[in-house]
Amino acid sequence: MKIKIINRKGEKLRFLLDSATPAFANALRRVMLAEVPNLAIDFVEFQNNTSALFDEIIAHRLGMIPLQFDPKKFNFTDECKCKEKGCPSCEVFFSLEKTGPVMVYSSDLKSSNRGVKPMSPDFPIIKLLKGQYVKLEAIARLGRGKEHAKFQNANVSYSYLPMIEVSRIKEAKKIVKSCPRGVLGVKNRKLVLLDPYKCDDCKVCEEESGNSVKIKTDPTKFVFSIESISGLEPRYIVEESARILQAKAKEFKDQLRRV
Ligand SMILES: [Zn+2]
Repeated sequence: MKIKIINRKGEKLRFLLDSATPAFANALRRVMLAEVPNLAIDFVEFQNNTSALFDEIIAHRLGMIPLQFDPKKFNFTDECKCKEKGCPSCEVFFSLEKTGPVMVYSSDLKSSNRGVKPMSPDFPIIKLLKGQYVKLEAIARLGRGKEHAKFQNANVSYSYLPMIEVSRIKEAKKIVKSCPRGVLGVKNRKLVLLDPYKCDDCKVCEEESGNSVKIKTDPTKFVFSIESISGLEPRYIVEESARILQAKAKEFKDQLRRV
């Protein structure tokens, strides 16, 4: 198995997974989506809310705010040394108190932990009109995407790497021009796929050539696209998902030994 980074910019990462199977690629994708722990607001207590929105709607919005945090410093509440009582290693408290008229943003949330704050100060939470008042306390905890979408770390997808197959061809230049993404070219009088990572398998070249050109896919090569929607780096999400897969395999092996 080989990995090659195609591009990496901010919260986005694309890489090629070579010499793998669809089963492994899909397992990796599913672990990234559903199993990598993330911190999100999970409990909200309202002391007062005279705004136009119900408590539940505000609580839901708070849960969807991505938080910046160091994953190494937090435990799941049920695995923590505090034995589910709640402590700084498994919970972060936020408080919010605002009186209208004002627009309440994520920057108005006061965190009990210096290292944990919303990814952006500009997420709107609620608009308060004159005299309207909100006072609440919230607790953020670690969770997994399979429990609730607010814990999902990233949008992850993959596709097979496209390949070109040319039987006989006359008007190569015309076919090169027809490609809407400009990924075809001519090398040594042969039609080639210059940038397979940009090809989106639109089949225009196949139609233009009367099917002498075929775009096929290689089921052992996967182009992964990861966009982090949490405070975690995309590379960390990939590494962590590999660790989780490894732990699952180990657990299976341990169980098998006992049978
Ligand atoms: Zn704890």
